[in-house]
This record gives sequence, C-alpha cells and structure tokens, in this order.
Amino acid sequence: MMYQMQHTNLKINNMQCVICKSTISGYSNNAQPVAEGKCCDKCNHTIVIPKRIDKVIEIYKQAEIDGTIPKSTDP
Ligand SMILES: [Zn+2]
Repeated sequence: MMYQMQHTNLKINNMQCVICKSTISGYSNNAQPVAEGKCCDKCNHTIVIPKRIDKVIEIYKQAEIDGTIPKSTDP
C-alpha cells in the first residue's frame, strides 16, 4: 500500500538567486532575459523587470525605425 503525498506545489525553499546568489525565500521569479534560471523578488523588481521594459522600448524604437509602426512624434 502506497501513500503519496502531493507536496510538489510547496517546493519553493532553498533556491539560490542566479543574480545576487542569495537564498530565495518564498516564490522565485524567472530571471530571463538577465540570466538563465531563477531570481529573488528583490532582483526581479530592481533588475529583471527594468531590463524587460528596456527590451520592449528597444523593440518599439526599432519598429519605428523600420516603419512597422507609425512614429510617435506624428501629429
Ligand atoms: Zn537576487
């Protein structure tokens, strides 16, 4: 007889942040596009999210140059 407890959803401890190398307490975040792996909340807010916004702005600017979207300066 086997009793299998489903604890997989609770496995959120003892992970290391790939950016600051500190132990992640609580939920981890995807560190992409800054790094490969998981990062802590602090790095997510201070590094990963600003980097993602930068990337979006970069894509947007390139699309303006390419003429894919109308220039934001147009009347
Ligand atoms: Zn971190």
